[in-house]
Amino acid sequence: MNREPKTIIMATNNPHKLEEVRQILGDAFCVKSMEAIGCHDDIPETATTLEGNALQKARYVHQHFAVDCFADDTGLEVEALDGAPGIFTARFGQMNGFGESHDPEANIRCLLARLEGKENRRARFRTVVALVQNGQEYLFEGIVEGTIRTHKSGGEGFGYDPIFEPEDTGLTFAEMGPAQKNAISHRSRAIQKLAHFLLGTETSDSSHEKEN
Ligand code: IMP
Repeated sequence: MNREPKTIIMATNNPHKLEEVRQILGDAFCVKSMEAIGCHDDIPETATTLEGNALQKARYVHQHFAVDCFADDTGLEVEALDGAPGIFTARFGQMNGFGESHDPEANIRCLLARLEGKENRRARFRTVVALVQNGQEYLFEGIVEGTIRTHKSGGEGFGYDPIFEPEDTGLTFAEMGPAQKNAISHRSRAIQKLAHFLLGTETSDSSHEKEN
């Protein structure tokens, strides 16, 4: 028997991210963007953790548009850099004089420069998804461990994909098709947890009363 897809708002207007999340969630969900509910605001991300930023975005939409909503935040955590760039992943290049904010080429150049000569190239992508539902807040985490290559390789994906090699694959994310990446990615792991939670088959990583 077919069930009606569950409608859920994602606090993003990034079409690439929406498409990836829709692919991961499949037919059981109808994922709508902020645009679809008339929200064109640039939501501030001023927290000091991925959890804080994801909650900030989901809370904003929940509070201003009175809908249940989820948001994600992702960071690349590099062992030899003590977990940097972390929450600064999107601005890493710009912060270090390599180019514009959110420019993947500048970010990659910056990271490769920082790791030059370092033997330890271990890193992980970590995604935190925050859901605000019926006044409750829930967090879901997805991690993929890997290493940073010394050179770019592959033309798929986005961001740091050409230099990130997930462990046990021998390929960068950019050398994989979307299906292969989605089977193991940090975002997909966090979103899968969210899906199981929404379908009532799993608990969240943490939940707490909404702070007002
Ligand atoms: P956001 O939180 O999804 O906006 O991502 C923060 C930063 O991490 C941006 O610079 C993205 O390009 C990068 N990033 C997030 N997810 C991925 C990924 O799956 N592959 C490569 N880079 C990513």
